[in-house]
Amino acid sequence: MALSGVEIFKLLPKTNCKKCGQPTCLAFAMKLAQRQATLDLCPDVSEEAKQKLGEASAPPVRPITLGAGDKATKMGEETVLFRHDKKFVNPCIFALEVKDTLSEAEITALCDQVVSSEMDRVGQKLRIDGIMLSNASGDAAKLETAAKTVAAKAAAVAVIINTTNPQAAETAVKLFAGKKPLVFGANASNLEAMATVAKNNKAALGISAAGLEELSVLTEKAKGFGVEDLVLDSGAQTAKAIIENNTLIRRAAIKKNFKPLGYPVISFAQRGDSLLEALVASVCIAKYSSIVVLSSIEKWKNLALFTLRQNIYTDPQVPMQVEQKIYNIGDPKPDSPLFVTTNFSLTYFIVSGEIENSKASCRLAVMDSEGLSVLTAWAAGKFTAGKIAQFIIDSGIEKEVANKELIIPGYVAILSGSLEEKLPGWKITVGPREANAIPAFLKSRA
Ligand code: SF4
Repeated sequence: MALSGVEIFKLLPKTNCKKCGQPTCLAFAMKLAQRQATLDLCPDVSEEAKQKLGEASAPPVRPITLGAGDKATKMGEETVLFRHDKKFVNPCIFALEVKDTLSEAEITALCDQVVSSEMDRVGQKLRIDGIMLSNASGDAAKLETAAKTVAAKAAAVAVIINTTNPQAAETAVKLFAGKKPLVFGANASNLEAMATVAKNNKAALGISAAGLEELSVLTEKAKGFGVEDLVLDSGAQTAKAIIENNTLIRRAAIKKNFKPLGYPVISFAQRGDSLLEALVASVCIAKYSSIVVLSSIEKWKNLALFTLRQNIYTDPQVPMQVEQKIYNIGDPKPDSPLFVTTNFSLTYFIVSGEIENSKASCRLAVMDSEGLSVLTAWAAGKFTAGKIAQFIIDSGIEKEVANKELIIPGYVAILSGSLEEKLPGWKITVGPREANAIPAFLKSRA
């Protein structure tokens, strides 16, 4: 069970030395209890306390990283049941299933699709994160051949070796040494052999069971065989079963601190119909799956799933924002239009995208509004005439523009008069209310 702040306090040195950055040991204990600090910040904690607190302060869902380098993906480490309680920490991994029954050319094409799946959305790189290589043939030699192709063509992405045959797993997983693969396919009948493969190759181990009771027994046994990084497959196939089992697993881990189920969960969304597959994958994303396996990659599906994942795994308490500065779009000249807006990421990307669509070179002055959108920032007093005027003056843009005209968002037209007072010599023009009207607005001025 997680310890309370007072219980943690009893184990700390109680010297109030402040080396941890907190004014007192009690304040540090409260931070630890809320999982807002880590024990290593206190240099004087005893070994006995470390042991007791280390276990208690570990996240209820074990963090596991698959892959290596800049494409390594971390999952788990979750601490809440609902996103609004705090935030979801590590976005789920999307893995494309590649069967070893496919030809080398087909496997190569799928690897290429995964490697080239990356797209940029509101400043974040989003991609299909991994490949699940399935031993559909049942032939260890075929799995090895396919694994060689994957290792050659998609070396950087996370790899899951899917087989219940320990010998086949051993041969294939060796090809991904040092890249933290996942060996998936342990069950009640092969657990020890599969755990040995995972342990010897420094891989994570995926365990399947027909229900949660059996699953919790198998994870404890796997730990006994020396494998700590485990991934759970509850056997759920339908969307309904995925919701039920994933919720029970997350509740047991978070609410009861039930360690045998405190691991990331893998779910299988593959369906014959792409739309249905996208819907099932959406359920997996929303309801606690850490790995979602897909049967195909399509751009429309990627965009829908990436967007949903990004929304769910964005910290609801921290608006996404971009840096305050004057952005050049195209190749602006001294007489090019100058827009101003707030630094909410979505606002910036939508406005800059529409300016790009217009094919006109412009400047976009993005003002720090603590990540709030235009109307919200105005209502909160963070996008006022005084603040905009000060930002424009401080930016020094006055020296670069010929006509000193500032185009403000139509939603804050009310600011135009006071802005003209605070920016003497400037012309304030009210722009469109919606960004999608910017191309027509610019065309009408040409
Ligand atoms: S560093 Fe340790 S001993 Fe010092 S105030 Fe923090 S918790 Fe207390």
